[in-house]
Amino acid sequence: MSNRTYHAGASSLVILLAALLLLPAAFAAGPEPDPLTDTVAALQRDALASSRAWEVLESLTVEVGHRFTGSSGDRAAVAWAERTLRELGFENVHAEPVTVPHWVRGEASGETLSPFPQAMELIALGGSVGTPEEGISAEVLEVGSLAELEFLPDEQVRGKIVFINERMERTRDGSGYGTTVAIRGRGPVLAAGKGAVAVLIRSVGTGPQRFPHTGGTHYDDELPKIPAAALAIPDADVLEAQLRHGEPVRFRLRLTSRTLPDATSANVIGEIRGRERPDEIVLLGAHLDSWDVGTGAVDDGAGCAIVTATARLIGDLPRHPRRTLRVVLFANEEFGLSGARAYAEAHAEELPRHALAVESDLGAGPPWRFGTRWAPEARPVAERIAAWLEPLGVELFEDEIHGGADLIPLAPARVPVAELPQDASRYFDVHHTANDTLTQVDPKDLAKNVAAYATLAYAAAEIPESLGPAPEVERSR
Ligand code: ZN
Ligand code: ZN
Repeated sequence: MSNRTYHAGASSLVILLAALLLLPAAFAAGPEPDPLTDTVAALQRDALASSRAWEVLESLTVEVGHRFTGSSGDRAAVAWAERTLRELGFENVHAEPVTVPHWVRGEASGETLSPFPQAMELIALGGSVGTPEEGISAEVLEVGSLAELEFLPDEQVRGKIVFINERMERTRDGSGYGTTVAIRGRGPVLAAGKGAVAVLIRSVGTGPQRFPHTGGTHYDDELPKIPAAALAIPDADVLEAQLRHGEPVRFRLRLTSRTLPDATSANVIGEIRGRERPDEIVLLGAHLDSWDVGTGAVDDGAGCAIVTATARLIGDLPRHPRRTLRVVLFANEEFGLSGARAYAEAHAEELPRHALAVESDLGAGPPWRFGTRWAPEARPVAERIAAWLEPLGVELFEDEIHGGADLIPLAPARVPVAELPQDASRYFDVHHTANDTLTQVDPKDLAKNVAAYATLAYAAAEIPESLGPAPEVERSR
């Protein structure tokens, strides 16, 4: 290097340094530099480029498959979750035992006997009793809703198989499920109270696929327990059309379901410890259990993968956020919220230090909206987070929220909650069916969810402000 070029280099260095010194002055009128915004942008970029959530979901669905409460799959899932969180470098990984019911599906079959004999695709509702060995054969009584059934005189219902033929509406927010699902939960009790011998429901789901949708039902100990099953939507259409002919339709239902003694499952927990306030918790939840058909990829394998990948991504930052991120993979959401209740009980003393709780349990569609139930004074934080979420296509919404089924038991402690639900337009096509498999999941949407959840989780764990306590929840809810 000659002297001359050295001098030329030095003088351009001086100019560069001067420019750098003057830069802040030039931008003094602009926005303050905000490390939080920069970190959020980096997290979103990394999340969108990462396939970690997909890898976690593939591992769960391929190596474990379904993990219905109380089953051997359930035990395998608990072991899988502990192993996976440890391998991913989470801290304080452990399983907290939960007592769960143990119902076994057995076999299910059904057919119209007259006027037009046809075999039907159907599935027992979770918790249903079985039928006698030869099945139950009776005339079908169709009702359009629970309200209609409620008003029928008992003599019209006695000895019949009640067919509750209510259609679920497809909506982006899944609200069609909320308004229809009572036919599954309350139908059998209502029908039994009027002397029915069995219940068939039109599957609480959407889409024309010939997969019946299961889901939990309940009994009243004061009333006879009658077998209950859901017809696939195309089969409900056939039964409906046969009934339109006006002749009595006879149906035979055969179920071999039964209930075994309670079993033990577990909530599985792993943490990314906070750097400054490690005893303050940002809870990222999903439920580890699934129904026993399909592989539970969408419900709620996707949620498990999203929250696990989210916490791991934030843990990879050069420095951990202020508060602790706690991933909780809840036991038995589907069949009675046992895991959620056990968590609230075991961590009662710690609940006042839960800075935020959020659960991902609306499938694997693209992230869609963001809502909160936290202290009104923390409203500006919600708006700030919403602004960060906007580039991901997520909008702030004002509806009343509960934050996910597993977070319901946290409400009395006034834990602040948020919802970051997926677009559920297609969720109920596969929900609780044998078609709930990895093939239904789009890896890009999964990564987008991680970007959105990481935005919320990082903000909640890092901002100095408190989000709580959440407004009190009315007892009626
Ligand atoms: Zn679920
Ligand atoms: Zn479910």
